[in-house]
Amino acid sequence: MPALTLKPGREKSLLRRHPWIFSGAVQHVENRPASGQTVDVISASGDFLARASYSPTSQIRARTWTFEEEPVDREFFRRRIRSAFDTRYSWIDPHVTAAYRLIYAESDGIPGLIVDRYGDVLVLQSLTAGSEFWKEALADLLLEETGLSTIYERSDADVRELEGLEPRVGPLRGVLPSFIFPITENGLKFNVNLQSGHKTGFYLDQHTNRLRVRELSKDKDILDGFCYTGGFTVNALAGGAKSVLSIDSSAEALALAKENIELNNLPVERATLLEGDVFQLLRRFRDEGRSFDMIILDPPKFAPTAAQAERAARGYKDINLFAFKLLRPGGTLVTFSCSGGIDAGLFQKIVAGAALDAGVEAQIVEHLFQAADHPVALQFPEAAYLKGLICIRK
Ligand code: SAH
Repeated sequence: MPALTLKPGREKSLLRRHPWIFSGAVQHVENRPASGQTVDVISASGDFLARASYSPTSQIRARTWTFEEEPVDREFFRRRIRSAFDTRYSWIDPHVTAAYRLIYAESDGIPGLIVDRYGDVLVLQSLTAGSEFWKEALADLLLEETGLSTIYERSDADVRELEGLEPRVGPLRGVLPSFIFPITENGLKFNVNLQSGHKTGFYLDQHTNRLRVRELSKDKDILDGFCYTGGFTVNALAGGAKSVLSIDSSAEALALAKENIELNNLPVERATLLEGDVFQLLRRFRDEGRSFDMIILDPPKFAPTAAQAERAARGYKDINLFAFKLLRPGGTLVTFSCSGGIDAGLFQKIVAGAALDAGVEAQIVEHLFQAADHPVALQFPEAAYLKGLICIRK
């Protein structure tokens, strides 16, 4: 088997069971592994540390499959897949929520592989050389272990470029019955565009937070900024909101949001869907003296990495500042960041700064997190990206 030897002292993170090996830690590589092939990772003193997939073009030169000297083969991946399924089904009732993440890459010991289940269809994202090397075998195993017959591939995330991989979108096994696919989440119906929707089609990571919003919505005038296909809007209406104003810059997303309201027979007359820029509209509403009982802000990723954190921080501060101004006293702000480069502590500071500059007093009443089907391995904190706060304006 090809082997990758580390520089002296560079084994520390692997001994703490962090799965990544950066190019700068590598002393030399023997037997010229192919892209994605399995290599033994050896310390400078010659000790076995891990078996990992080799990524020749990425700064993350290898990602650990296992810390044991065990074969990395089909049966290995079958065990990893089964173990991932076990944790899902102890948290999710598939009769209530039929769309959820089955495999979350490093968190489930399969770096590079994301598998989301939408009803009876699996959507697969292969993000690294290693997951690409095993993709066909993984696809077969997924069908064997679920008893399903359709896998659609959405390997169109930018990070593939770093691995020297081209984007790929299309059927991997079986045929999609239709690109617009109906799912149930917390008992509500949504049409999801599996072919061109964001991520694998839907923001599955928000499903528990959407339920929370439903519980808090009764009789409220609500603004849902960055509403996408109506995840929070539909829940707010189902929770008895008096009115919901939903904003997104994408007309296509808004069209699907409207469809999703109708699909659940919710009162369309209580919903206003507005195409526009949240940054500008919040200012306009302030000038018009408008106010709301609850404001939800779930913007796109402003800072994928820590390097962009400063610019992103200004973006978060801006929208949260205007949201605080538009909240009625006693009103609720439900605010999120999905930027990996901004941690929960920093996000809280940004929101605190926004309240200060808005001249309002507010309290945090809840911290929110990504749903349990997006677990975070304790040795891989990078898997945590979604953070949210529920604040009450005094
Ligand atoms: N809350 C949604 C997910 C939001 S994703 C859910 O639960 O499903 C972020 C959304 O913000 C995308 O739909 C994108 O079209 C939209 N968006 C990005 N920049 C925007 C802007 N400046 N103003 C309004 N919408 C924006």
